[in-house]
Amino acid sequence: MYIVPESAIADLVTRKDSFDAVEQVFASMSKRSAYNFPVIREAIGHAEALYGFKSGFDRDALNLGLKSGGYWPGNEAKSLTNHQSTVFLFDADTGKCRAVVGGNLLTALRTAAASSVSIAHLAPQTSRVIGMIGAGHQSAFQLRAALEQRNFEKVIGWNYHPEMLSRLEEVATEAGLPFERVELDRLGAEADVIISITSSFDPILMDAHVTGGTHIACMGTDTKGKQEVEAALVARATVFTDEVAQSISIGECQHAIAAGLISEGQINEIGAVINGTHPGRGSDDEITLFDGTGVGLQDLAVADAVVKRAVEQGIAIEVDF
Ligand code: NAD
Repeated sequence: MYIVPESAIADLVTRKDSFDAVEQVFASMSKRSAYNFPVIREAIGHAEALYGFKSGFDRDALNLGLKSGGYWPGNEAKSLTNHQSTVFLFDADTGKCRAVVGGNLLTALRTAAASSVSIAHLAPQTSRVIGMIGAGHQSAFQLRAALEQRNFEKVIGWNYHPEMLSRLEEVATEAGLPFERVELDRLGAEADVIISITSSFDPILMDAHVTGGTHIACMGTDTKGKQEVEAALVARATVFTDEVAQSISIGECQHAIAAGLISEGQINEIGAVINGTHPGRGSDDEITLFDGTGVGLQDLAVADAVVKRAVEQGIAIEVDF
């Protein structure tokens, strides 16, 4: 069995590795050769922690395993990240544990890879302006991965806490692009691609804000009650997701479904676009929306890529287990 500690991961896995792993698993999910098991998430009544498992099996890549972890609000005072997770991979032929991998950085990489895959397959080819809503921990990963998918010339951003926008400005500068703080109406009118990655429980981006052909990746809504875009905007868009069951229950589509504005049958799998069984964007004028809810199979796919690289480079710790 191999162990790959959290501290080793930053130098091991590239954004391309994460993109390829997540694209493959979305395709396998749509072919029904990979599936996620029901998610467990519990308030454990200790340390105010939320703890759970996300697990699944990808028969194409033979990735079987789980991500275990959650949220410990008191961690910051102990100089630890509040979100803590670990990925366990098992041998699909024997059930033996084959790897334990730090899951914190992996979560950011696989989440950024998901929106990046959606941009690669759905954004207008002529996209030049990217608009970011949200400037927290995940946002920098999201922006770096997105910038690789089109020839962007400018980054614009809005955040509920404007003082945090310097994080996005740094990423734009690092990529040699100008950055501008804008109000939401300008963001919706000027951006060809929009990523929302906040912990909001109320809509931020409204239907009236968005004009012209746009691709929107809604990445922050991963829990019942959270919301980033107005339900009417979801209803106006052609909607794609990683997993329909999560989209309607904990994803951005939960609100449009509850309001009766869309039906489950109108939500398409991004994997179908990757596999070529859905044409994806129909015209440059269309609004496409990706509801990225986050599935355990993404974690397993990227963890597997990490283990392969760690073994190749002699960094993986081998344990007789
Ligand atoms: P963070 O705490 O670092 O940042 C939170 C962001 O939300 C900041 O931009 C903040 O200004 C904004 N925000 C906070 N309160 C708000 C409010 N009331 N209204 C509007 N915006 C508000 O969090 P993070 O690690 O960057 O994660 C952002 C979101 O992404 C969270 O909701 C998290 O659960 C979600 N997430 C989703 C996935 C997925 O796979 N879809 C994966 C990881 C994280």
